[in-house]
Amino acid sequence: MACALPAGLGDDVLRMIDVPGPRYTSYPTADRFSPQVGETDYELALSRRAQSNSKARPVGLYVHIPFCESVCYYCACNKVVTRQHGRAEAYLVALEREMQLHAQVLGYRTPIAALHLGGGTPTFLSDEELTRLMRAIRGHFTFTASAELAIEIDPRTVTTARLSHVHALGFNRLSMGVQDFDPEVQQAVHRVQAREQVQGLVDDARRMGFDSINLDLIYGLPRQSQASFATTLDQLSAIRPDRLALYAYAHLPQRFKPQRRIDESELPSPSARLAMLGQAIKHLLADGYVYIGMDHFALPEDELAIAKHQGRLQRNFQGYTAMPDLDLIGLGVSAIGRVGPQYVQNVKEVGAYQDALAQGRFPIERGLALSRDDLLRRSVIMALMCQGRVEFESVELAHLIDFRSYFEPELNALRAFAEQGMLRIEARALALTDLGWFGVRAMAMVFDRHLQRTATGRYSRVA
Ligand code: SF4
Repeated sequence: MACALPAGLGDDVLRMIDVPGPRYTSYPTADRFSPQVGETDYELALSRRAQSNSKARPVGLYVHIPFCESVCYYCACNKVVTRQHGRAEAYLVALEREMQLHAQVLGYRTPIAALHLGGGTPTFLSDEELTRLMRAIRGHFTFTASAELAIEIDPRTVTTARLSHVHALGFNRLSMGVQDFDPEVQQAVHRVQAREQVQGLVDDARRMGFDSINLDLIYGLPRQSQASFATTLDQLSAIRPDRLALYAYAHLPQRFKPQRRIDESELPSPSARLAMLGQAIKHLLADGYVYIGMDHFALPEDELAIAKHQGRLQRNFQGYTAMPDLDLIGLGVSAIGRVGPQYVQNVKEVGAYQDALAQGRFPIERGLALSRDDLLRRSVIMALMCQGRVEFESVELAHLIDFRSYFEPELNALRAFAEQGMLRIEARALALTDLGWFGVRAMAMVFDRHLQRTATGRYSRVA
């Protein structure tokens, strides 16, 4: 198959992708949330929704299951490593209470258009516990007819029988972390899983009728080389998942404790990282994948690629989505939600989470009420990242500003990207070029007012 690598995709553009930076799964990003927004604000936002015309609009639901049986050394997620499966019981009780609180305030079985069960490891739960969780969700909410039900599964612990149970519960989308198929790399990151396990589960999932299968890869891991990564990419081609997320490993051992167990001398050099990134992009495009933006690729027939083609992509806390822009309810430790112009995030500790719910309180730790300027910049950043085009007129009409004068410094800063062939600055619009999609995050950062104020360079792929 011909490789459609955009002209100009050299090291300078690859470097823009490879540097740590905000991923804009929200704007402002979660590190701007503050404890000034808490449970009372959230309850108010929910009641406003319940009393408004938005009431009948579906929401997205994210449920975080924090438990993992063993730790992957590259991990930057909020998780609890334990082999005590009994811990799930009290956690499930708390999740049920959290659903109940939402149902009480919303006063209605709110329709869900998209469910994402993430972690941690959702399949840490037994079949019976997963059934109980889904029963509770169905008891407090109602799924729309075309709802997407996605779950992250751990190929090391999921058998065909377990997968079939997950499918019977209504899940129609799967995501699996692969990271790398090379046994040496897997040992170095303490996540050993045979390629055959992943291949077998993908085959099973296709037979069972799952609509879309996503695999995650990470480049920049210890003991990875261009040669070993080429083999991983070839093995990936044989599996041919519908979607592929390619993440950069950000080594921040001061921030993420498990990473201290990674031998730094085994990390690839910056130039080897860039070469692997370029190699992966080239390989995936040659395999026929469409570059969605940021870290995501999809086969042309996948809904995500179709949504990109039709200009209706959106971005939420799980990355790109073909779903419309929905309010999001987050359940479980560290889960983030958004109701109208307000973001909230739950406490991160399991004990504090369970205690708050035992007292009948929403376990909110922090949040953010979006200002007028936040809403405006959010719309520009999302238009750039999702549609690759910002129409000045639609922003002006929605936010009552004059685009060129409001964003004069930003437009000046964007000239450098235009000169590199990444962006067209038209009379009344900004338009990404094919090359520009690869550097979209750097252009989005130009509009990030919070970043302009306090650039700290401490972002990672989790931000
Ligand atoms: S990467 Fe996933 S499975 Fe591994 S420790 Fe982190 S949350 Fe658990």
